[in-house]
Amino acid sequence: MKIIKSKGPEIFDIELEKDLLSKNRSLAKANRKKLDRLNITAIDVMGSIGSGKTSLIKALIKKLNRGEEVGVIAGDLTTTIDADRIQEEGARVIQVNTGKECHLDANLIRQAIDQMKLEGVKFLLIENVGNLICPGEFPLGAHKRVVVTSVTEGPYMILKHPYIFKQADVIVLNKIDLAKAMKVNPSQLERDAKQINPKASFIKTNALSGKGIDQVIRALGL
Ligand code: MG
Ligand code: ZN
Repeated sequence: MKIIKSKGPEIFDIELEKDLLSKNRSLAKANRKKLDRLNITAIDVMGSIGSGKTSLIKALIKKLNRGEEVGVIAGDLTTTIDADRIQEEGARVIQVNTGKECHLDANLIRQAIDQMKLEGVKFLLIENVGNLICPGEFPLGAHKRVVVTSVTEGPYMILKHPYIFKQADVIVLNKIDLAKAMKVNPSQLERDAKQINPKASFIKTNALSGKGIDQVIRALGL
């Protein structure tokens, strides 16, 4: 079979992209400094649409049982659906609508942190835009990065997106209760994950029932 492999951006885009990514990295460093100064642990929650990022965040807040110490930045193209759902848990939520952008970046997080009331906040959970591609390239300054995937996304989701799974400190396989119905083998997904990123913790969850949430909390050091 003939395969055409992209070697990255076209020549005229290369400088632009390098600039953008390096500017993002320096803003991410500044965000981290500010968060450290404020004694806030920040987690970047990435994953595709429908994998259960919002449900995981809700489950984490519920389990931590300290809603008032949790701040959430909810990234979404246009809606406030997720932010509304998270607010039910008693956390402080700020919505970031990215318009057409398919990822959050360190500049948007800088603005969100500036505008949030952060007194008393110990944990900042950031729900990235639903997408398994570019969020990985844009560190936000968070202390840890989670990638949420679910058995309903089929058996190849991890192998097909090596870059973002390499960036993860914790890989969550959600909707584990549906594995059988989906004919997906969780152990195979775990092997795929370990092959791509041996250092990341791999945790099976059902965010709706609370299964595995304790392990996620421990792995994230919350
Ligand atoms: Mg969501
Ligand atoms: Zn993007």
